[in-house]
Amino acid sequence: MIEIAGLAKSYGATTVLDGIDLTVGEAQIAAVVGPSGAGKSTLARCINLLERPTSGTIAVNGQDLTRLSRRDLRQARRQIGTVFQSANLLRRLTAAQNVALPMRHAGVSDAEIRARVADLLDRVGMLHRANHYPSQLSGGQRQRIGIARGLALQPAVLLSDEATSGLDPDTTRSILDLLTDLRDDLGVTILVITHEMDVVRAIADVVAQLDHGRIIEQGPVADVVRRSDSPLSRALLPMPPVPADAGLRPWSVRYQHEQVSPVWLAKAGRELDTDIAVLAALVEAAGETRVGRLTLGLDPRLDDRRVIEVLAKHGVVAEPVDRAVLRPVPAAAHEEGVA
Ligand code: ADP
Repeated sequence: MIEIAGLAKSYGATTVLDGIDLTVGEAQIAAVVGPSGAGKSTLARCINLLERPTSGTIAVNGQDLTRLSRRDLRQARRQIGTVFQSANLLRRLTAAQNVALPMRHAGVSDAEIRARVADLLDRVGMLHRANHYPSQLSGGQRQRIGIARGLALQPAVLLSDEATSGLDPDTTRSILDLLTDLRDDLGVTILVITHEMDVVRAIADVVAQLDHGRIIEQGPVADVVRRSDSPLSRALLPMPPVPADAGLRPWSVRYQHEQVSPVWLAKAGRELDTDIAVLAALVEAAGETRVGRLTLGLDPRLDDRRVIEVLAKHGVVAEPVDRAVLRPVPAAAHEEGVA
């Protein structure tokens, strides 16, 4: 488990990270998202101790890494394996030799290195590529070798810094499956730094959004996607487009698929004594759960509070679209365009 508290990092007068609090439980995958320049890489470099934080603490399994002497720091660093965007393999070494490298530096015996390299390559599905050089491997294969190397010293935490950026969707999926397996089989705590919301939806248990060096929103993915009025939720699951419809008022609703009755929509319609139109709909996987997002068209004369209340009773969060960020295409403008 990793516990970050009050973490700050400044370069001279420039504050890049400011009061970061983030806890990732054992065998959890956390994602840190945010726009370019938000401080994600700096956070990654602070966590794997390539940079000394200006203040605050970073504890891995209860041990505060920021207070260690230089000698103890080297030891402590082994608890954190890192996988970078481009796997950063050494070109002159084979896949097996690359994976062996951290163990050689750490003074692990040759016999043990041989056994562990075979084991790690097998785990990432690359045993048959042990003697290939990086130039003979695809981007996804290099990334697998990078992950095996990141795991070489049996770290408690694996830090993935944009590890799937630039990979094609199938390769990305296979790397994400591998990370999920590592969490489930080995109990590794994984912190994923990414700008890809698909990655967050696919594998993260918890998510934190970084902006200008601060965490502006965080929580379990399953909770965040159900929040109304949440920028992170909207970024994770963009709303379906709202078609113009003069007579109906659009409502954005969301719900956790497993927690609603299959007939909630029909029941809500009966309770509100109205016909409900489905203007747009999607159900997407988010972490362990599936989230439904609909745009409903309702009679504009209905009382807002009553609509929210009835839908809430069925486990569905609702807000009128004109209060959300997205706006429906104005019907009048649309018709003018046609005419
Ligand atoms: P991200 O990874 O989210 O794109 P970074 O952590 O790379 O963001 O950078 C965050 C901010 O910190 C940027 O404004 C960047 O210019 C600044 N920064 C990063 N490293 C340094 C440094 N060594 N000295 C001064 N400013 C830096």
